[in-house]
Amino acid sequence: MEKGRDADVVVVGAGGAGVAAAIDAHDAGARVIIVDSHRQPGGATAISGGGCCMVGTAFQREKGIEDSPDLAFSDWVHFGQGSADEVWARFYIEHSAHDLYEWLTAMGVVWDSFNHQEGNTVPRWHHPVGNGKAIFEAMHAAAVARGIDSWHMNTEAVALLTDDQRVTGVRVRDKQTSQERDLRAGAVVMASGGFMSNVEMVYQYRPDLRPHRILGGSHVEATGRGHRLVSDAGGILTHMGDVWMYAYATPDYRDSEGERGLVVRGLPDYVWVNAQGRRFHNESLSGGASATPAVLAQDPAYCWAIIDQTGRDTVEISDPYYRDGLIKHWDRIDDLFQKSPHIKESDTLRGLAGETGVPGAVLEETITRYNAYIDEGLQRDPDFGRPLQGRKKVEQAPFYALQFFPLSRKSFGGVKTDLRCQVLDTHFQPMEGLFGAGELAGMAGGHINGKAGLEGTMLGPALFSGRVAGAWAANAAGFGPGFVGTPLR
Ligand SMILES: Cc1cc2nc3c(=O)[nH]c(=O)nc-3n(C[C@H](O)[C@H](O)[C@H](O)COP(=O)(O)OP(=O)(O)OC[C@H]3O[C@@H](n4cnc5c(N)ncnc54)[C@H](O)[C@@H]3O)c2cc1C
Repeated sequence: MEKGRDADVVVVGAGGAGVAAAIDAHDAGARVIIVDSHRQPGGATAISGGGCCMVGTAFQREKGIEDSPDLAFSDWVHFGQGSADEVWARFYIEHSAHDLYEWLTAMGVVWDSFNHQEGNTVPRWHHPVGNGKAIFEAMHAAAVARGIDSWHMNTEAVALLTDDQRVTGVRVRDKQTSQERDLRAGAVVMASGGFMSNVEMVYQYRPDLRPHRILGGSHVEATGRGHRLVSDAGGILTHMGDVWMYAYATPDYRDSEGERGLVVRGLPDYVWVNAQGRRFHNESLSGGASATPAVLAQDPAYCWAIIDQTGRDTVEISDPYYRDGLIKHWDRIDDLFQKSPHIKESDTLRGLAGETGVPGAVLEETITRYNAYIDEGLQRDPDFGRPLQGRKKVEQAPFYALQFFPLSRKSFGGVKTDLRCQVLDTHFQPMEGLFGAGELAGMAGGHINGKAGLEGTMLGPALFSGRVAGAWAANAAGFGPGFVGTPLR
């Protein structure tokens, strides 16, 4: 290692992008240090569903799914509503089969199923056994097995160090002792994740949302401090208002600030009603592109998801306190149902209406009408076009109402970089020694998705851009040829 350096490459953030960067930098011959402000590595990656949008994989072929980079690119750009970074999208799509799917598979990740997400012509959302936790554990184990041994947890990056316009390291603070020290390096990879748990920052970039209650819903450390460090050093932020929000989230009663939200899944038969007790949307289109605008258009901007006892048995709370990988903590879910002021229970719909403040006669009429569509054997509900095949009526007491508010989950904008993940300054010139990857960089490049994502297009690009950043950071520090992948064309 060069004299005066603590490491060849310092990686800020031990989530998916950071560990991917560390692996590629290490493989190029660089000595790597990883710092993370949390007590344990993993970030949002380890609590994620783990779904990755990948194109032309062996798993797709095995299942008879015909896909191609051209088809995926067309879906991607169309769904991004004209604001995706097309060059980065193409780069990712072409590399996803060899440089992500096969890379993760070789580390031991096992893929078990697909979801056909909104906007995709064919299924591409690959689900790993054990969710994001399993992906992260496989990557972490691979990093440790290679000899990457310098992990500094509870260590927050507080400033970037510069010397003659080149980034030469990071100032870090030990969160337990508050002591600061400088880590000098040949290059720095910022992979500190997004800002979706910082609701005030969401409002700052989306003042139009201020009148509404928005819940924060990413990893607890997704507070946007890394964005500030990069912009203080001269890096540019882009598309920061493109916040990917989900509509099916309820406040976490354990958060005294009332800001954190819990994503609620596993309720295919819920019926959404607004404060007036009326349906307003096709509940099977629950994604960020369609359901969130529908909820935001209500007055006030929330809804109640009405379920019966059968739904209570299948509910999933997508949060590490309630779900650890595949294990559901039912005792905690029971507590949530009993203690949350945003979840109501009653033996009758009238009673439920009383609990929620929704007009009783309207709620009864709404649910009776919906149940009648199922009794009549209709293919789709005539009001909002919800497909009814396989749907169950809401009829078995007790009934529950879960109050849903929009939840900010994924940062689609962030630090702007070139295709080497080198951070760009306000003149769009690469900043020497500074690389940005993952959700900090709007998943990759600054805004790879655009205004909406095909799903699996957050974790996949975060991991891939981590690899690219690590390889080019090592190159900048004097090691290896930079990122050399195998595109599928
Ligand atoms: C519950 C949930 C489910 C999701 N499911 C999916 C899915 O199925 N498919 C999909 O595509 N996307 C999904 N996402 C999004 C996706 O998981 C993330 O966008 C992606 O994992 C981000 O990876 P990252 O490495 O950039 O950030 P992270 O994994 O969040 O890692 C960032 C790390 O940086 C650390 N850090 C932050 N600030 C500092 C600092 N100043 N100094 C030092 N360290 C710092 C954090 O502690 C954290 O460990 C989900 C997100 C959530 C929250």
